[in-house]
Amino acid sequence: MTPLRGTDRSKLMALVCLLLCCGFLATTLISYFSSRGAIRSAIIDTELPLTSDNVYSEIQRDLVRPVLISSMMSRDTFLRDWIIEGEGDVRQMTRYLKEVMSHYGAFTAFFVSDASKTYYHADGVLKHVAPEEPRDAWYFRVRQMKEPYEINVDPDLANRDKLTIFINYRVLDYQGQYIGATGVGLTVDAVVAIIQDYQRRFGRTIYFANSDGDIVLAGRSKEGGEQRRNIRDIPGLRDLADTILASKGGSFEYESADIHHFVNVRYIPELKWQLFVVKDDKLAVSNVQRALYFNLLVCACVTLLVLTLLYISFNRYNKALEEMAATDSLTGLANRHALELLLEQAMREATRQNSPLTAILFDIDHFKALNDSLGHLAGDRVLRHLGQLLQTNLRTSDIACRWGGEEFLIVLKDTPMEVALKVAETLRLRIAEMPAAPNEAIQISAGVVAWQVGESITALLERADVQLYRAKAAGRNTVCSDTTATTS
Ligand code: GH3
Ligand code: MG
Ligand code: MG
Repeated sequence: MTPLRGTDRSKLMALVCLLLCCGFLATTLISYFSSRGAIRSAIIDTELPLTSDNVYSEIQRDLVRPVLISSMMSRDTFLRDWIIEGEGDVRQMTRYLKEVMSHYGAFTAFFVSDASKTYYHADGVLKHVAPEEPRDAWYFRVRQMKEPYEINVDPDLANRDKLTIFINYRVLDYQGQYIGATGVGLTVDAVVAIIQDYQRRFGRTIYFANSDGDIVLAGRSKEGGEQRRNIRDIPGLRDLADTILASKGGSFEYESADIHHFVNVRYIPELKWQLFVVKDDKLAVSNVQRALYFNLLVCACVTLLVLTLLYISFNRYNKALEEMAATDSLTGLANRHALELLLEQAMREATRQNSPLTAILFDIDHFKALNDSLGHLAGDRVLRHLGQLLQTNLRTSDIACRWGGEEFLIVLKDTPMEVALKVAETLRLRIAEMPAAPNEAIQISAGVVAWQVGESITALLERADVQLYRAKAAGRNTVCSDTTATTS
């Protein structure tokens, strides 16, 4: 196995980073868009139609009933007879209107005679309507109207100009001739309160628009507000207005101020109005967006963690490989390859510092016999012990190496031949004391040489080998050098 080079490592880390980022991004974005889609379809398919249903059923009670009452009033024979007979006793009419009001709980009840232009209400004659009076415009509109009735939101003169919904019904005589307008009025307070409540509770905007797109009734909001506007004035809705008004209902979407809006439109035939329920996806989407950012943050942290762990693992792996490449696994000493590098460096240092450098090459005597008698494992144990002995008995600056099977090389920096010979001798004696097996002493033969400036490693080792051979030849358990021959 070879250690990973820096560029390989960077490439691998970049690849892992890319894979993690792509994977995380894909899953995060898929879940983001699917949640957004789910939220949107929940708004379109469930929330808005449900609100529309609820509002519709509430307003039915409040708005549709008055339409029926007004319809009944327009067909009432007493009312028609009273007009046809010349509007005799005003008290009869006011009593009639009062009855309608109290019985049906209407806010106001009225009748306007076309013959006299008199406006009757529950308390008597209110006024006379005139075409030039803008406040009476409604009457002259109803007079010309083709439809039997209209619903109009106006301030009520009879009630301190409170905003009131009037149902204005055309009254015809028995020959179908127009003879006046009647109906009831109700304050919008109750309806507006319902709308406000829905808006507040569900974060929706609710309003009613007539067939021209005028917002006739709305809660207090930025879209309708108290001042009535047209749906064409709502940014984003302008382009859709005609489609919506022609469609008589459905689901629509528009963008306004960079916010996506969903609209549910329902046509209310009794009122000839359209009920708009609007909701934007700002809140829901911002929640999903927050989740998206959180997810991305978690993914970034995980990616960072994985890369950090990977980096640490690479470093450990490389370090382990480098160690494995430089050391001998049995003895823990430097191996041959590492020694060559270290020796070259030591030679450069010695040259630079002009210091003596010596080498001891030694070989265990009769090791084969030890292996044969005690077994290979015992031989290994001896080698291991010997490695430990060298490590503890040498200076840190010295280099100890397992040169071959049971052959060791020691390089002593800044050490003259006399000292090297002493070191070799000491080692020989210490090794001899090393417990190997009962009745067995480990003996070594050693050759010591002093390095000469410019000499190659091979030449140095050849000379050391010659000395080692001499020691073996001299009967083993001996240290030899080219200056002396020492026998124990
Ligand atoms: P001498 O050096 O005194 O001439 O005799 P010797 O028996 O030591 O000589 P030789 O070099 O022929 O034998 C070396 C033996 O060392 C042979 C081999 O089995 C053994 N040997 C080499 N490496 C290892 C090792 O890693 N573990 C063990 N147990 N034995 C080893
Ligand atoms: Mg040997
Ligand atoms: Mg040998």
